[in-house]
Amino acid sequence: MVNLIKVRDEIKSLDNKVELMAVSKTHPYSSILECYELGQRLFGENRYQEIAEKFPLPENRPEGMYLALIGHLQSNKVKKVLPLVDRIDSVDSVNLLLLIEKEAGKLNKNIDILFELNSSEEEQKSGFTDKEELFKAAMLLKDCPHVNLKGLMTVGPLGSDREKNIKAFTYTKAVFDELKEKYVPTISILSMGMSGDWEEAIMCGSNMVRIGTAIFGERNYNV
Ligand SMILES: *Cc1c(COP(=O)(O)O)cnc(C)c1O
Repeated sequence: MVNLIKVRDEIKSLDNKVELMAVSKTHPYSSILECYELGQRLFGENRYQEIAEKFPLPENRPEGMYLALIGHLQSNKVKKVLPLVDRIDSVDSVNLLLLIEKEAGKLNKNIDILFELNSSEEEQKSGFTDKEELFKAAMLLKDCPHVNLKGLMTVGPLGSDREKNIKAFTYTKAVFDELKEKYVPTISILSMGMSGDWEEAIMCGSNMVRIGTAIFGERNYNV
């Protein structure tokens, strides 16, 4: 049993414009379909391999199902993952951006992306650590006709320190505003907040939360 309705209602009651992404990593396709039947359309997965093994090909997925890659993307997986996803939310370097453009060009496919910002200065996290580097990537978008930048994603700090979360999310919102004002006026998505910190994220301006555990239960990585 997925806990979608309760989570969705909680989020909507705080801010009904926030979009919910159901993060289904480690959980079976049957649970994803269960969410779909309850009206959920947006799903997130963090590994190419799991997407390839778990999901039917896009043409065989239920109508309107929308899949985003939210985990770190290795260069050698770009070509393989592009046909399987609707958006790549974890673009974290100029090189990765240019590689996505190159491979999307070969496939003649337009792909939506988000830039990922490392907002917590934690080394083990992916994401642009330097906002100037992120802006540099934004300036290269004019040479990337197959790539559409839709916004920003960040993963909050480890642990559940409320102040640290708020600091990271406030910083990400400021980078989002600067990116929109100076570089890409069309961006609209600010994806931040997970099961443990979505309330703080929404308070700081998030309009997309990525929820796994609260919907599907604990993850078991050993199966
Ligand atoms: C797993 C994951 C989530 C969901 O985390 P929960 O704490 O289970 O809600 C969100 N974003 C990313 C990038 C993830 O990898």
